[in-house]
Amino acid sequence: MKVYALPLRLECIIFDIDSTLYTNAEYAREQVDVQIRHFADLRGMSHGEARSRIAEIRDAHEREHGKKISLGNAMTSFGIPIKESVRWRETLIDPALYLGRDERLRETLTELGKSYALRAVTNNPVSTALKTLAALGVEDLFPHLVGLDTTGFSKPHERPFRIAFESANCAAENCLAVGDRYDIDIALPLEMGMGGILVDGVEDVYSLPALLKA
Ligand SMILES: [Mg+2]
Repeated sequence: MKVYALPLRLECIIFDIDSTLYTNAEYAREQVDVQIRHFADLRGMSHGEARSRIAEIRDAHEREHGKKISLGNAMTSFGIPIKESVRWRETLIDPALYLGRDERLRETLTELGKSYALRAVTNNPVSTALKTLAALGVEDLFPHLVGLDTTGFSKPHERPFRIAFESANCAAENCLAVGDRYDIDIALPLEMGMGGILVDGVEDVYSLPALLKA
């Protein structure tokens, strides 16, 4: 875990979902790979070729711009619009196959929810995010979800973050972004004046109530 900045007065915590509210390397990998395999099948290329072509695009973007690009944005380089990515994710990803109830996460979020507004911003569609939160047993703790289909823009784009904190009637400087990917979840929120904590997984999230109290 790395704490980049904390707001002087914290009112709202904006969580990433995948690999932040759960740690499951197999599921995290499969979510990406199932879309790449689907793309390969549509284009009549081998899964291996599709994996390397998408990896090339993502590596090239990182070399040129010094930061990582989301899978959805990488797919647009192959003529797959974000709307199409959204449909694939809705039909191809089934979180319940991989994730189970997490009582400790539930206790943690319930505790944080007593002091702060909780929001989640994800590059998955809202319906997929809801299934993920339901599998973890915490869907009722996030009444406002911002997904890829809420704005049509994937993180790191200002709009999904802005919608999240405005829905809590908060200013950026009173918000804290928590996520597992610096370039996608943390860098832009810091530029926007929010706090930011990079986590290695859900174990770090469990420690947030104590950390924020201290
Ligand atoms: Mg993540």
